[in-house]
Amino acid sequence: MYDIIVIGGGPAGMTAAIYARRATKSVLVLEALTCGGQIINTPDIENYPVEAHISGFDFSNRVYEQAKGLGAEFAFEKAVDIKDEGSVKTVVTTKGSYQAKAVIIATGSENRKLGLEDEQRLTGRGVSYCATCDGNFYRNKVVAVVGGGNTALEDAQYLAGLAKQVYLIHRRDSFRGEETNAERLKACENVEIVYNSNVTRLISEKRLKAIEVTNKLTGEVRTIELNGLFVAIGRVPENMNFASVAELDEAGYIVAGEDCHTKTEGVFVAGDNRTKALRQLVTATADGAMAATEAVKYLNNMSL
Ligand code: NAP
Repeated sequence: MYDIIVIGGGPAGMTAAIYARRATKSVLVLEALTCGGQIINTPDIENYPVEAHISGFDFSNRVYEQAKGLGAEFAFEKAVDIKDEGSVKTVVTTKGSYQAKAVIIATGSENRKLGLEDEQRLTGRGVSYCATCDGNFYRNKVVAVVGGGNTALEDAQYLAGLAKQVYLIHRRDSFRGEETNAERLKACENVEIVYNSNVTRLISEKRLKAIEVTNKLTGEVRTIELNGLFVAIGRVPENMNFASVAELDEAGYIVAGEDCHTKTEGVFVAGDNRTKALRQLVTATADGAMAATEAVKYLNNMSL
């Protein structure tokens, strides 16, 4: 029996583990894949206090070492259910189950798909959701990025430094991402921005070899021959397994305020999978601190 189980080893979950351990609570972090979450794909973080530049990979490793150093335990298993039995919560994983007095859900989100035919088959064969993981395969080649948020703008800049030609395809004529990011991208000579357009078809043999792009305003269809397509159209929260203990909004985010409480006593939420105005590294770590602090208060009240 642990005091706290944290589901998800991203910045929110690992920060929660740090705070919980500093309050001397026993902590198990359950992570389905690799610790770090979404930030692991960011080549250069420059908006987190103290470090002017650090890669998402290095950041994640350092937080992981910090949490482990403080005594947090980690298990690499996907949590698929939480059973609320009042003062005891059972977290069911793909390999077994664990018990704790409190649970923090910090599962973040997963890549949104374009929903095109063959998208899944071509993933790893020309279609990618991670520029920093796969960009190196496209040195001096032609690639496109889809999206208009900070991820797409940063991915396109990163790829412009590797590839021969980069197309950025965005469905509107203004960006959701920051102005600074857009201006930096526009200054790259090997980048063409294709506005008001959607990718409407993936053309392939064994691998992706071209995309069909349709202009939403004119209906014009253009075929772009390329080697790689990087999809950066946002993420969707991974909360469906926890709908019995936490209320979800229409988009699937767990409804919770700044105190990170869910509708179930002893179950808290932290990070990108919570309803909130700003999803950034700094707000994820802040949530981790808050959720752990509230969980510790809950545990201390239980033992009174
Ligand atoms: P995002 O901000 O949600 O942007 C998603 C983009 O994809 C939007 O431009 C959206 O278009 C477009 N889109 C969504 N569904 C689409 C579809 N089906 N087809 C075509 N386009 C589609 O996602 P994100 O860029 O991954 O960023 C997520 C969060 O992380 C944001 O808060 C972002 O600021 C943050 N982030 C921060 C940094 C940083 O601070 N360095 C780096 C990366 C990400 P519309 O604009 O038309 O809706």
